[in-house]
Amino acid sequence: MNGFLNEFRTTFQEILNSTNIVITSHKSPDGDSLGSSLSLYHFIKKFNPNVAICHPDEAPHYFDWITDISKIKLFETNKDEVIKIIQEADLIFCLDFNDFKRLGDDFGDLVQKSDAKKVMIDHHQNPSINSFISISDTTIASTSELIFELIFQTDNLLAMDAPIAEMLYMGIMTDTGSFRFPSVSSRTHEIISILLKVKINHSKIHEKIYDSNSLDKIRLKSYAIVEKLEVLPKYLTGIISLTKEELERFNYKKGDTEGLVNSILSIENIFVAAIFIEHKDGIKISFRSKGRFFVNELANKHFNGGGHKYAAGGFSSEKLEQAVNRFKKLIAKNEK
Ligand code: 5GP
Ligand code: MN
Repeated sequence: MNGFLNEFRTTFQEILNSTNIVITSHKSPDGDSLGSSLSLYHFIKKFNPNVAICHPDEAPHYFDWITDISKIKLFETNKDEVIKIIQEADLIFCLDFNDFKRLGDDFGDLVQKSDAKKVMIDHHQNPSINSFISISDTTIASTSELIFELIFQTDNLLAMDAPIAEMLYMGIMTDTGSFRFPSVSSRTHEIISILLKVKINHSKIHEKIYDSNSLDKIRLKSYAIVEKLEVLPKYLTGIISLTKEELERFNYKKGDTEGLVNSILSIENIFVAAIFIEHKDGIKISFRSKGRFFVNELANKHFNGGGHKYAAGGFSSEKLEQAVNRFKKLIAKNEK
């Protein structure tokens, strides 16, 4: 990783000296946005009691086991309180996102316009956030790893307790596909080794995240693969699209299509996977790649999104079929 020693030190000084600190992260929270937010929250609490987490929207239910998840204030359901907290903040952490749009339009505007000093800690390409401190490293597998480095490089390892370590472990585990993606480094494993010394129950975290699926979720996934998977052998691509009605048939809850795109990618001779999910406000798209093809460029250029080379997402206001057909044409042209 590129050295950020000065940035980490300045950030720690700001933690000590600020009056009201707020931690934000992107819409549709995942393990890394929650893990980095909650670990940083617990860490800051040891030095400064005036810290809050404000996220755009609710986490999927498979994160309900996290005791402190209820401490996160949601802009979507608690707008007035969140507006007040942001207005009173003098230090705002922007975790795991590279563009204020990732907070959603209204919440993004609110945070962007705030006079508070901003500290961005992120690992996505092309950051466009104007911040007081920018700790952005695309070679790092997860934002949670960068939160670990903040604690480590400011000589605060003694402050590391189980609630911090558990959340860091969760963030690193989920953003590395359980320590298997190319972005995993020997440092990732060193960090995990240090976290395990804090005596966290790592297998409980795996079980809670990966082996606690609802029956509806598994049935939706099975239906999607049996009935809806379209393979384009010529283009080494697999696509699933699901309509609102199909989601309703399986009592869809937020997070129920999580992992589906990776199941497509797990098929031999499929190198690009895409899912198109019809929600009431438009089509949410996820892209994955095993290499050869960088899906973040496709997501960014053609689907109002972005992400990492091998895992990206986007959004479309088209009809479901239109969005899928457009994707097929782009793939046929081998266009990024
Ligand atoms: P997922 O497919 O799991 O929703 O997202 C995979 C990755 O793509 C995320 O880690 C995030 O970096 C990125 N991503 C997903 N949706 C969007 C989006 O709407 N805009 C941008 N810029 N990135 C996204
Ligand atoms: Mn991340």
